[in-house]
Amino acid sequence: MRYLVISDIHANLEAYETVMAEAAPLGCEQVLVLGDLVGYGADPNAICDRVRALAPHALIRGNHDKVGSGVESPEGFNAVARSAIRWTYDQLSPGNREWLAALPAGPMIVDDLIEICHGTPFDEDAYVFDDLDALRAMHSARRPLCLFGHTHVQVGHYLSKEQFGLSTADDERPLTITLEDGNRYLFNPGSVGQPRDGDPRAGFATVDTAAREITIYRVEYPIAQAQARILEEGLPEVLAQRLALGR
Ligand code: ZN
Repeated sequence: MRYLVISDIHANLEAYETVMAEAAPLGCEQVLVLGDLVGYGADPNAICDRVRALAPHALIRGNHDKVGSGVESPEGFNAVARSAIRWTYDQLSPGNREWLAALPAGPMIVDDLIEICHGTPFDEDAYVFDDLDALRAMHSARRPLCLFGHTHVQVGHYLSKEQFGLSTADDERPLTITLEDGNRYLFNPGSVGQPRDGDPRAGFATVDTAAREITIYRVEYPIAQAQARILEEGLPEVLAQRLALGR
């Protein structure tokens, strides 16, 4: 099985369309979505409509999906995120709001190889920022390859009997990593709609379970158009600016 893995789309239609076009010739049979479809970006309904039409093999909610659909209050959000998520809630059609509210929480087992979560397998809202977080997440995962989102940083860690290390130190993209038997892996495919690792290009990944390979990609998309949409909708200017910085 070959999966397309996407996360943290954040209502960025320009980035989403570019990623899907780039992924089209890659021969993926199924899609895995790691949450945060909405929040920050200008097109929450268009993204919900498209992801619903995709009928992903596995789809879990992110923290912005919970708040954007009214499942949780925006109290924990900073001022900018809060103002964007209130706007998102108002924009969402009743049907899309209901659909988002009903999305399952992670973690979710996909198959013998893969488990997905938004933040970590032990807490859907926790962030993997450092090595200790990564180790904790790996030890709580029930499958050899755990895919996560939430940090908007494209990264992959491995854990063998001998060592814990970084699979993604190489800057080259696409970058393919072979998943060795007996090792554990923790990968973030990167954010489609709001990268924060200093590279403004949209991130995504593919996993080939037969070849036991994961490949991470970055693709340029029309950032100026996504920025214009954010400003057009009256969302905070900083949300447009950060797209160009990848921060
Ligand atoms: Zn997110």
